[in-house]
Amino acid sequence: MSKVLVIGAGGVGSVAVHKMAMNTQIFSSIALASRTVSKCEAIAASVLERTGVTVDTYQIDADDVAATTDLLEKVRPDLVVNLALPYQDLNIMDACLNAGVDYMDTANYEPIDEARFEYKWQWEYHDRFKEAGLMALLGSGFDPGVTSVFAMWLKKHKLATIRTLDILDCNGGDHGQAFATNFNPEINIREVTAPARHWENGTFVETPAMGVKKEFDFEAVGAKNMYMMYHEELESLAKFVPEMERARFWMTFGDEYIKHLTVLQNVGMTRIDPVMYNGVEIVPLQFLKAVLPEPASLGPTTKGKTNIGDIATGEALDGSGEKTFYIKNICDHEDAYAETGNQAVSYTTGVPAMIGAAMVLTGKWKGEGVFNIEQFDPDPFMDMLNEHGLPWTVEELPAPLPF
Ligand code: NDP
Repeated sequence: MSKVLVIGAGGVGSVAVHKMAMNTQIFSSIALASRTVSKCEAIAASVLERTGVTVDTYQIDADDVAATTDLLEKVRPDLVVNLALPYQDLNIMDACLNAGVDYMDTANYEPIDEARFEYKWQWEYHDRFKEAGLMALLGSGFDPGVTSVFAMWLKKHKLATIRTLDILDCNGGDHGQAFATNFNPEINIREVTAPARHWENGTFVETPAMGVKKEFDFEAVGAKNMYMMYHEELESLAKFVPEMERARFWMTFGDEYIKHLTVLQNVGMTRIDPVMYNGVEIVPLQFLKAVLPEPASLGPTTKGKTNIGDIATGEALDGSGEKTFYIKNICDHEDAYAETGNQAVSYTTGVPAMIGAAMVLTGKWKGEGVFNIEQFDPDPFMDMLNEHGLPWTVEELPAPLPF
């Protein structure tokens, strides 16, 4: 019996709360707080209609640490699940320390004025969480999240060492819009326009954004162009799988997406520094977000599948030499929408957020301090993926990736 407080009423928060309400044996009391309380109320109404479970709702600006601390002291949850934006991570961690509550999120902290994903700021909280006897679990979405659990499962069951790792993220969904992003546009565009970085021989190698492109034939989607880019799990995987010679992250983008993004970038609309407009300071990327479709609005029209997985090559556990395994999940946008009212990009993040929260609340994953998902036993998490809508498959490939 445990009480959870989710902060953030976007697509990911919506899926996580729906899935928690489908598992009341773990989440016996659910509260949802966000900046715009009407979004919490709309999610609570959908959850009540679909599952019969009541979700308590609250308004909060999570950038206000004192107000968030007060909310935690009033609600007294066993765990805070932060599904707001990466900018709020440290403030919510501070409020958890003030109120003595465990913490979890799906995206690492990023300063609002610097497009720089790094775990260092959150890792610096380790001693404070440890001294308070509290646990913080970082990055329990799909990527980061499931992709790291996949790697650790391969290391536990198939490979003694991982020599090379490639994470392949394909969204084969079509939302019918000329240009839209499937999760928060500001976060998505900051991520995609940042220089690519991959791990090679003990260091990160930087290359221009979208500079490396390969074609890959994705099951249930077809052949797609994918681009090498930086993604935050590369940092934690490099730390917790130190033998890796190389680790890369790839994401598919259609030609239309690239065309629009290139123009927006060339004209300065993706800038994150403020500019003056009619006597008011505006950040072009934040203005762009305001005119793009809300990711949540894409749910009813998105068709197709996502296919996200890891290809790992290394020494087989059974001593049979070097082997390559491909482990992945395929998720259908329309099925995700029918179940929770959200498309598959929110679904594939919200379900692992629910599962990570379940790992903490049931004590299957336990610790005092700040932890990444690679530090725990992958098996109970992998079992829950199969049981709660994100089944996975693993196969041996005849050879490593040819590039
Ligand atoms: P959305 O933009 O749809 O939702 C974010 C929500 O957080 C909104 O309801 C927003 O409120 C709320 N919020 C923003 N700022 C504050 C604040 N200061 N105080 C309280 N609430 C606030 O984003 P998504 O649902 O798509 O993504 C949620 C998180 O999940 C992000 O951190 C994202 O990076 C992460 N993510 C992780 C993935 C993974 O695989 N690991 C994949 C996809 C997303 P309002 O409605 O008022 O704007």
